[in-house]
Amino acid sequence: MKRIAIVGGGISGLSAAFSLEQRRRRGEALEYTLFESGDRLGGVIRSERVDGCLVEAGPDSFLTEKPWAADLCRQLGISDQLVGSNDALRKTYILLNGKLVPMPDGLMFMVPTRILPVIMSPLFSWTTKLRMAREWFSRPRAGADDESVASFIERHYGREMVRRLADPLLYGVYGGEATELSVRAVLGRWVDIERTHGSLGRAMVASRRKTAHAAYKRSLFTSLKDGMQGIVEALASRLPVSSVSLKKPVDAIQRFDDGWKVLAASGAYHFDALIAAVPAHVAGSLLEAADTALARELREIRGSSSVTVTMGFDSATRSVLPRGFGFLVPRGEGKRVVACTFVHDKFPGRTANEYALLRCFLGGTRDPGTLDISGEEILRVVCDELRQVLGVMAEPRFVRIYRYKNAMAQYGVGHLDKIERIGRLALQLPGLALAGNGYHGIGVPDCIRSGQQAADRVCAGLGLHQQQAQQMSV
Ligand SMILES: Cc1cc2nc3c(=O)[nH]c(=O)nc-3n(C[C@H](O)[C@H](O)[C@H](O)COP(=O)(O)OP(=O)(O)OC[C@H]3O[C@@H](n4cnc5c(N)ncnc54)[C@H](O)[C@@H]3O)c2cc1C
Repeated sequence: MKRIAIVGGGISGLSAAFSLEQRRRRGEALEYTLFESGDRLGGVIRSERVDGCLVEAGPDSFLTEKPWAADLCRQLGISDQLVGSNDALRKTYILLNGKLVPMPDGLMFMVPTRILPVIMSPLFSWTTKLRMAREWFSRPRAGADDESVASFIERHYGREMVRRLADPLLYGVYGGEATELSVRAVLGRWVDIERTHGSLGRAMVASRRKTAHAAYKRSLFTSLKDGMQGIVEALASRLPVSSVSLKKPVDAIQRFDDGWKVLAASGAYHFDALIAAVPAHVAGSLLEAADTALARELREIRGSSSVTVTMGFDSATRSVLPRGFGFLVPRGEGKRVVACTFVHDKFPGRTANEYALLRCFLGGTRDPGTLDISGEEILRVVCDELRQVLGVMAEPRFVRIYRYKNAMAQYGVGHLDKIERIGRLALQLPGLALAGNGYHGIGVPDCIRSGQQAADRVCAGLGLHQQQAQQMSV
């Protein structure tokens, strides 16, 4: 019987555990224990009902085009709970000189694919509009080194595009600056397009034509009817109670003969293999005694901190709000709220009593102090800024504030090289696998895939595949 430890009970660790559970049920000779420091599973995923409204503390949905989360829901038998975002109202605003300006139609993330809406949009100056036209004629370019997203976008569309669009869009996703994030890690497909086609605009128009021919159009975002926690609950319900240890923070992980030792306050536990499914910098601290070089590389993957504030306003407030998914705030606007989602438009089934449900994001790498200010002060800042931006004068009927310390991994320039070095160092430690948002994508689907792959890797290393094959051939 092979024993496997999983450290961390967020979506990455749970996905790894579920993969191991499926193997165990198929008769593979393994058992596993999941160590979670908190008193609940799910990590940053948490959904709550407040006054009839569904409040998401962390992720509210996932990108539909990344299949691993919906596939997992199908395996769990909960695909009937999947819901798409209400794309009929898919409009995002950018705050420009204190006013909300809609992002023009036809932008694919930030690449213009339709001329007229961009020409008519007040979001860009004529200089930027001319840059967009010139970009269409860009020649293929093979850059050897990684660079920041800002320098890549600036080369294609100029600095204004970075300030007004690239930075707020990326800050809203990663909580990090376009000047610091790696283009290869964050927008790798665009680097490939630049190499093969030259112009991002030309390539996107071609791909748009292809998808326009697709038989159906899916919503951009997918979630679950009763919230993202539905995936966590379904996963948890498939795991034997005896294999999950809550309130068990792991203090250190050590190599031990040809296995692994997990040190927790309650004692030392021995395993044949180990999946570290905690944030990368935490994995670095835990693995210090196992390999200092690996630990250093992992600790260098910083996390950004954030605060989400969800507020329910009465129905009258809806009438003063623009329709759409929400707005983003460029750095130069001098606000602490960096993004706001209009939940009642994005996922209409989540509100009750015709409430206007607003979810604001604060923090990120340029405002780490937000994490330490009091709830009252956060609320005062958010209400002030919503008054200025949206004209919301009403008092919220309810407020929920959630804080996340170093939860969002930052993929700095050179991230993929770092991941390669980490992969090489980890290979020298048989039985170790890493999972989580620090490596190949920060979204929920990426984390699910990372957990599944980590489970496959440790099982392959333990020869469990072969063992099953032998059993089957007997
Ligand atoms: C506010 C916010 C909004 C987001 N929005 C979206 C979104 O809309 N769509 C999307 O796709 N993604 C979103 N993300 C990203 C995505 O949710 C995360 O990347 C993903 O959920 C991380 O999962 P994880 O299991 O790797 O890590 P975590 O959720 O951080 O889980 C790690 C677990 O490890 C435990 N742990 C830590 N240290 C120890 C220890 N020493 N011993 C034992 N256990 C330990 C923690 O308690 C935690 O439960 C968002 C993230 C945040 C923070």
